[in-house]
Amino acid sequence: MPKGTIGVTTNNIFPVIKKFLYSDHEIFLRELVSNAVDATQKLKTLSGAGEYKGSTEGLRVTVAVDKEAGTLTVSDSGIGMTAEEIDKYINQIAFSGAEEFLEKYKDTANAIIGHFGLGFYSAFMVAKKVEIRTLSWQEGAKAVKWTCDGSPEFEMEDCDKAERGTDIILTIDDDEKEFLENGRIEGLLKKYCRFLPVPIIFGKEQEWKDGKYQDTDKDKVINDVEPLWSRMPADLKDEDYLKFYHAIEPMQDDPLFWIHLNVDYPFTLTGILYFPKIKNNLDIRKDRIQLYCNQVYVTDSVEGVVPDWLMLLQGVIDSPDIPLNVSRSYLQSDRAVKKISTYITKKVASRLEEIAKNQPQEFEKKWNDIKIFIEYGMLSDEKFCESGLKFALLENVDGKHFKIDDYRKLVEGEQTDKDGNLICLYATDKEAQYPYIKAATDKGYDVLVMNGELDVPFVGMLEQKQDKMRFVRVDSDVLDNLIRKQEEEKPQFTLEQQEIAQTLFKSQIPAVEKAEFMVSFAAMAADDKPVVITQAEYMRRMKDMARFQPGMSFYGEMPDMYGMVLNTKHPLIQKVVEEAEKALEAELKPVNEDITATQNVVNAIRDLDKDNKGVPEDKKKDLEASEKHLDELRKQKENLVTAYAAGDSRVHQLIDIALLGNGMLKGEGLDRFLKRSIGLLK
Ligand code: ADP
Repeated sequence: MPKGTIGVTTNNIFPVIKKFLYSDHEIFLRELVSNAVDATQKLKTLSGAGEYKGSTEGLRVTVAVDKEAGTLTVSDSGIGMTAEEIDKYINQIAFSGAEEFLEKYKDTANAIIGHFGLGFYSAFMVAKKVEIRTLSWQEGAKAVKWTCDGSPEFEMEDCDKAERGTDIILTIDDDEKEFLENGRIEGLLKKYCRFLPVPIIFGKEQEWKDGKYQDTDKDKVINDVEPLWSRMPADLKDEDYLKFYHAIEPMQDDPLFWIHLNVDYPFTLTGILYFPKIKNNLDIRKDRIQLYCNQVYVTDSVEGVVPDWLMLLQGVIDSPDIPLNVSRSYLQSDRAVKKISTYITKKVASRLEEIAKNQPQEFEKKWNDIKIFIEYGMLSDEKFCESGLKFALLENVDGKHFKIDDYRKLVEGEQTDKDGNLICLYATDKEAQYPYIKAATDKGYDVLVMNGELDVPFVGMLEQKQDKMRFVRVDSDVLDNLIRKQEEEKPQFTLEQQEIAQTLFKSQIPAVEKAEFMVSFAAMAADDKPVVITQAEYMRRMKDMARFQPGMSFYGEMPDMYGMVLNTKHPLIQKVVEEAEKALEAELKPVNEDITATQNVVNAIRDLDKDNKGVPEDKKKDLEASEKHLDELRKQKENLVTAYAAGDSRVHQLIDIALLGNGMLKGEGLDRFLKRSIGLLK
C-alpha cells in the first residue's frame, strides 16, 4: 500500500487549516460542493471540445449524511481523477489543478469555479479523516482510493468504483458533530448552493403518508440550476422577477423596481438588483445584496463592490471578476472592482431614467417610496447626481409631481424675486402648516412638500447645483418677504409706537419650551393676518442639518428662534397699539421726558470724548449715573406697558391665535386661550 507525505512546506499544515484558515468552518461544504460542480462542468467542457465522447446527461452532485457511521459524503458524476492526478492536484497542495485546466481550455472554461484556493483541504476543518474514491473519465482508468487522517501522511490504493466521478467521504470530528445533522447540512446547502448550475441532491422529497412524513422515490434537489439572473432579460416577465424576489426575500412586499445587470465586457457581471419598499427605518439594512461567483454564494457583505448608497438595494450580483479572498481595503482600491462599482451606478441611473421616461405614472406613484434611494444616491455620488437631476421629482401640496426643470418653468413667472432668484416654497407638514400654505397658494404660489428623511440635505444640494434656485419653508417669513418682489414697505408705526408694541406683545408671550421670540413689524396687506409666527430658514436649516453632521450638534442644543411679526397695516394691530399709546400717554409722558433729558446728558458727555481716548476722569461718575438712570427709566417704561398689556385680552388673543396657527400653543397656554375665548363670547 503506497504511502506518502503531502507536499507542503510546513510539516503540519492541518492544525493551521483547522484553526486559522477560515473562521467559518461551515464553508468546507461550499468548497467540496464547488469542486464537485467543477468536476461536472469540466466534463461538459471536455465533451464540448470533443475529447469526451460519452453522455453528459444526468450530471449531478449528491450530498449524504450517515449519522451512524459518522460520515458526510459529497459525490459527483464529474471527470474523476487518476492516481497521477490525485498526486498532482491533491498531494501537491500548492499546485492548483484549476489553473492548469483553465490554461488548457481558456476560452470555454468560463463556468468553472476555481476561486477558493485551498478548497479541498478545508475538509480538515471538520473531519478527522478524509477519503477520496474516484474514477476518472479517461478510458481504461482505474478507480483510486486516497485516505488521510489529518496528519501530513496519506495512503493511496486501488479500489472498486464502477461509476465515473468522485466521492469525498468525511469522517466528522467529534467536536464538529453538528455537521452530521440533516437540518444543518440542508441549511448550509440552501445558503451556499442554492443557485449552483448542476443539480445538488440531498435526500428524498417527502410526502405525508400514514400519519407521518415519509421519503418518496424522488430526489430532493436543493438548487435552482438556472437562476433568474443567469437568463436573458428579454426572456423574462415581471412575474418572473417578482417570484425570484420573493424567493430570496421572503416576508417582503413587492419591490418597487428592479434592474437586471448583464455585462460581459470588460468584465463579467450578472445580477438583479431590486429597490425594496421600505416601510420604516428598521427596514433599512445594508446587507441585502448577495454576492455570487459563478452561481456559488460567496457573501452578503458587498461593501466596496457596490457603492455605499446602493447597499440599500436587495438582490444578487454574480461576477467571477471580483477578487474574493482579499481584504476590504484592497477591494476598494482594486481597479476591476472600481469599474464594476461605476458600471452598477451607471446602470441604475439609466434604468431609473428609462422608467421615469417610459412609465411616468408608475414612477410618480412610487416616487415617495423610491425617493429615499434617489436622494441618498444624489447626495453621495456626484455622477449619479447628474443623472438624478433629470429624473428626480418634486411633489407639491396637491400631490402633483414635477421634474426639476419642469417645476422651474412652472413657477418662474410668479416666484422669481426682485434679485432674479427663483424661490421654491415648501412645507414639511401639510396639516400643521396649513395656514401658511393656504396664504401662499391664495396668492398664486405653488408649495412643495418636503417631508422625507433626506429632504433637508437634498434641498441644500439642489440650491448648490441649480442656478439661482432657493428653497424657503412657507413659515419662515411673512409671505411678502418670502418672495420679495419690490423693496420692503416701511412699517407705518412711529418709533414710540414700535417701542410700545414691542413690549406690549413680547411681555405677554407664554413660555414655550426651547423657543425664543423676537417681535418685529411688517407692512403686509390689511386683510393679511395680524400676527404671524415665523422661523428663519437659515437657522432652522442649520439645526436640521446638525442631525446629519456629527460636529454640528451645538446647533441642535440652541433654542429655536422665532419671529413674531406684527402686521402694521392690520386695523386690529393699529387699534391695539394706538389705544395703548393713548391710555399710557399720561403715565409715560414724564418718563419719556426724563429719558430724553437723561439721554441728552449721556450724549453730551460722550461728545467730550472726541478723539476716542476715553471720557474725562471728572465726568466718568456722571456718565455712569446717567446711564444707570436711563436703564431704570426704560425698565419703568417697560413695566408700565407690561402692566397695561396684561389687562388687554386682545393682545393675548392675538398672540395665542398666531401660536395656534403654528402649532405652538400647548398645555397651560392652550387652556388659558380656550377659557379666554369662551369669555369673549359673552
Ligand atoms: P482548487 O479547486 O482551487 O483548484 P482544491 O484544493 O479545492 O483547489 O482542489 C484541487 C484540485 O483537485 C482541483 O483543481 C481539481 O483538479 C481536483 N479536484 C478536487 N475535487 C475534485 C472532484 N470532486 N473531482 C475531480 N477533481 C477534483
